[in-house]
Amino acid sequence: MTAYPHLLAPLDLGFTTLPNRVLMGSMHTGLEDRAASYPKLAAYLAERAAGGAGLIVTGGIAPNIAGWVAPFAGKLSARREVPRHRLVTNAVHEAGGRVCMQILHAGRYAYHPLSVAPSPLKSPITPFKPRGLSARGVESQIRAFARCAALAREAGYDGVEIMGSEGYLINEFIAARTNRRDDAWGGDFERRSRFPVEIVRRVREAVGPDFIIIYRLSALDLVEGGSTWDEVIALGRAVQAAGATIINTGIGWHEARIPTIATLVPRAAFAWVTGRLREALDVPVVATNRINMPGVAEDILARGEADMVSLARPFLADAEWVRKAAEGRSDEINTCIACNQACLDHTFAGKRSSCLVNPRACHETELVVRPAERRLRVAVVGAGPAGLAAATTAAERGHRVTLFEAGAEIGGQFQLARRIPGKEEFAETLRYFRRRLEVTGVELRLGRAVTAGELAQGGFDRVIVATGVLPRTPAIPGIDGPQVLSYIDVLLGRREVGRRVAIIGAGGIGFDVATFLSHPHHGAAPVAEYNQEWGIDPEWSVRGGVEGVDPRPADTGREIWLLQRKQGKPGRGLGKTTGWAHRLGLQRRGVHMIPGVEYLGVEPAGLRVRIKDEERLLEVDHVVVCAGQEPLDALAHELASQGVAADLVGGALEAAELDAKRAIDQATRLAAAL
Ligand code: FAD
Ligand code: NAP
Ligand code: SF4
Repeated sequence: MTAYPHLLAPLDLGFTTLPNRVLMGSMHTGLEDRAASYPKLAAYLAERAAGGAGLIVTGGIAPNIAGWVAPFAGKLSARREVPRHRLVTNAVHEAGGRVCMQILHAGRYAYHPLSVAPSPLKSPITPFKPRGLSARGVESQIRAFARCAALAREAGYDGVEIMGSEGYLINEFIAARTNRRDDAWGGDFERRSRFPVEIVRRVREAVGPDFIIIYRLSALDLVEGGSTWDEVIALGRAVQAAGATIINTGIGWHEARIPTIATLVPRAAFAWVTGRLREALDVPVVATNRINMPGVAEDILARGEADMVSLARPFLADAEWVRKAAEGRSDEINTCIACNQACLDHTFAGKRSSCLVNPRACHETELVVRPAERRLRVAVVGAGPAGLAAATTAAERGHRVTLFEAGAEIGGQFQLARRIPGKEEFAETLRYFRRRLEVTGVELRLGRAVTAGELAQGGFDRVIVATGVLPRTPAIPGIDGPQVLSYIDVLLGRREVGRRVAIIGAGGIGFDVATFLSHPHHGAAPVAEYNQEWGIDPEWSVRGGVEGVDPRPADTGREIWLLQRKQGKPGRGLGKTTGWAHRLGLQRRGVHMIPGVEYLGVEPAGLRVRIKDEERLLEVDHVVVCAGQEPLDALAHELASQGVAADLVGGALEAAELDAKRAIDQATRLAAAL
């Protein structure tokens, strides 16, 4: 008896049956863009197929050059491009999976000068103004979709997904916001929606009846001038009648100023939208966004809100997500924490995707964890992300590993991160590692700082030092005063914090502390609160689900100053795809973010500063120091003085610009090479 009967139930599509209700959603990894990287793409997708994904959708492939996301991005418009795709379909089929190719025409979101759109309107997130399509041009885009789908079939795909959401070309035709035409392809809703309907009809004609067509329907645009709910339903029905097999849910345009997949978005926050779609449609519908654990997925399906669930990033984090759920091993799932740091942030920086919690993602052929040739005795010191990754990877390879942690619990700084409102998911990484230590047989010694002498006497073949960092104390007069707090004291709740607070340092931790102090409660936000904070209409009664709805963040009554010395916008170093939401969230809660600050001293009455040549006293109850960190590497020096060679990883090696992505990646690579 499984805990997930709905999730693991087959889905009969008429001409084929999917083994379960899990769709691996489309993600652009960068591997799609170069012919030479298709063997890597094939290996990456085949691992997910072997791990049980019911149906995989590839990253977006353009149907023509105009539709490229960026110059020379993945495209399928000519027969000579078919063989590289066969590598993918063969590998997935050999692993027992099914795979659809996503056809993505970027429209005005294209990052190149050849872009096209229904009307020549530049998007706010790209520098290129698109060319407005002529009626002949529209026809040629539709032909490109149909030809691309036919070639996908020839390449062995089980189907295609037509990307109709997120503000790309198809979505641009549908919304009055971007379609200013008054011809057969624009004007009233019927003419604006003709483009997607015609695409689905012509694709169906080109591929025949026994081929999956998923249509990704923009169910909630989250932009002004987006569709109304009635239009969404009308389009869903028309697309269904034109030949779509499955309708997937799209949430939010890329230019929307509402976070839709970041950690601060509650789990399954948009399942209600798919639930409403399902009531109006006959074909299977797919729920999406922030579904990361089997229990969450099962609940959506059991409530009847969807026929399938789409998980994208969770498959980067763990290729065996479905198999672990099916075998009653959900506690072994490496959970996606929705940080975007190694996936979407990489994509937007033009780098290959990977995963913060699983550096093997998209590097399956390069980062291989093989059984060790000789079993070594390995000591790992520090059970933060670096130490945990090093210890479990080494033990997985067969080494005998002892992990020493000074604290009472594993986790290092992740024990602090998980306390930040909107970062509760970080606790899942600790649950994963706690179980992984058991599964791989690591001996864990908690509660005491191990000394160099003990390690030297311990008979270890290798010592890995992952002792992390020490918070930096800046040299500011009065910094040792009673009203000065460390971020550790604040986040662990060791000290009460007053109503008026100045934060020294506006890096990742400064922003997190400001979030912690300005948030009404600590614990994952319920969906209703998230909708209210970001201005989403839960009744779906206005255009785009947002038009005319004011964001209403809750007020804690605290006044917070978030300060940095350098000029320039605070938070510039935060993640590309999430930093803006952190900034906007704090701004709306009234946090003063001030650059160019010179700290003159902490006084009983507050923090004295100079800003733009003007001296000011910020009258605050407390000053919280978030001024960066230094490596905690004393142990490594002591070991060296006793003649014991050690490898340093994570913060112990270098604290500057350290994050968990680097710590885990470095430690995994070190342990894979021991
Ligand atoms: P640490 O996590 O510092 O772990 C070191 C461990 O070693 C500690 O548990 C310590 O107790 C132990 N130790 C030290 N000396 C000894 C000894 N002698 N014997 C035994 N044990 C010892 N990073 C991100 O990538 N994304 C984020 O969103 C993010 N958010 C954060 C939010 C907060 C509030 C904080 C504080 C950090 C955040 N970070 C984030 C940073 C991230 O947590 C660190 O980069 C990461 O934890 C570094 O890992 P590490 O293993 O090198 O060190
Ligand atoms: P950080 O990002 O390097 O920020 C340190 C801050 O302290 C900066 O604002 C810096 O700005 C200031 N500072 C540095 N030296 C100072 C001094 N001597 N006196 C006064 N101010 C000083 O470091 P962090 O905030 O401690 O974060 C640590 C790491 O955790 C980061 O590298 C980050 O990647 C990671 N993290 C990431 C996230 C995330 O959301 N991705 C969240 C939290 C943490 P000025 O020098 O201009 O004053
Ligand atoms: Fe999820 Fe972060 Fe990994 Fe991306 S990098 S897949 S968001 S855990």
